[in-house]
Amino acid sequence: MTASVVLNRPAHGFAALERNAPVVPFDFSRRALRDHDVALDVLFCGICHTDLHMIGPWGQEFPLVPGHEMVGRVTEVGAHVSDFAPGDLVAISVIVDSCGVCHPCQAHDETYCEAGPTSTYDSIDRVDGIRTRGGYSDTYVADERFVHRIPDGLDLAGAAPLLCAGVTSFAPMRHWKVGPGQTVGVVGIGGLGHLGVKFARAMGAHVVAFTTSAPKTQDALSLGAHEVVLSSDAAAMAAQAFRFDFILDTVSATHEINPYLTALHYNGVLCAVGIPDALSPAPYLLASGRRSLASSGAGGTREIREMLEFCAEHGIVADVEVVGKSEINQALERLRNNDVRFRFVIDMSRD
Ligand code: NAP
Ligand code: ZN
Repeated sequence: MTASVVLNRPAHGFAALERNAPVVPFDFSRRALRDHDVALDVLFCGICHTDLHMIGPWGQEFPLVPGHEMVGRVTEVGAHVSDFAPGDLVAISVIVDSCGVCHPCQAHDETYCEAGPTSTYDSIDRVDGIRTRGGYSDTYVADERFVHRIPDGLDLAGAAPLLCAGVTSFAPMRHWKVGPGQTVGVVGIGGLGHLGVKFARAMGAHVVAFTTSAPKTQDALSLGAHEVVLSSDAAAMAAQAFRFDFILDTVSATHEINPYLTALHYNGVLCAVGIPDALSPAPYLLASGRRSLASSGAGGTREIREMLEFCAEHGIVADVEVVGKSEINQALERLRNNDVRFRFVIDMSRD
């Protein structure tokens, strides 16, 4: 911390005090507003599987306040903010700063900032050196460049997960030009995957959901999938060979990826956005069919805004289970056990 840092905004949140610990109430302070800062009251915050990874092996420093899918209401703005005013409904995604000058930043793909973006939580603020704390909290403060306006008409609890799960599914589909005439697979029908199904359907593709959970079959069809394949069904999996233009793999755990490479037709792309410990692609499956294995990281400000507009146009929000603050640990445990339809969202006004 530098001597000039002023932390004068009391915040009440929930933190894991040590690795793998449950979250507990945690009081801290956020910074005094800088000229380009926006302060908000957090209304809803989604619970992303990344929060589990962070409370677990990935966390850098504890106490750790998770949360990077926020919807809130502006309470105050810095002296030079002209685009936001108190009362506005806004959202915060997974990053809150970047260098601003590298090629990806200039393209507003700040997620890929070559100097490393500042994450919404458990990152070091580039200006004051303070560790960022996330949206399991009553307030947040961010530079206006990373504050997003929520289009009218979107349900606020359902909109919160769009800020990570949504853009992480949407951005690669746009990048690889998913559209009519294509067959698109979505692997893992969780937070990211259920939105992936909705986006692929809305983009006009023929959508096939791959799931390990037989009870999700009807849900996946209701979300917009044309077909559902149980990945434990070897015969059904074998029948997928050479079918797909694009597959979005959202699985959070180590799993067999080669059946999905096999399912790509020639020149097809398998974009694995889930972040398991390891994946073991067979190189010959890439060579035979000139298939590509790719990944993608959430989305920068350009893609987030495009995604929010797309959601408003197509009436897309997440299917959520809203929980109160006293239920966060139970929700984390259920998420760990793959027991959620399809995203938990914390209502910060509810105990
Ligand atoms: P989630 O809600 O838990 O969904 C993951 C889905 O994967 C589950 O619903 C389940 O779907 C499937 N699954 C779980 N365990 C499995 C296993 N052992 N084998 C096969 N399938 C399994 O998680 P999420 O929030 O969507 O996040 C998914 C992953 O994406 C996490 O690793 C997260 O960290 C990562 N992520 C990456 C980015 C990025 O920037 N690239 C951004 C956000 C999140 P079925 O029940 O349908 O099988
Ligand atoms: Zn996330």
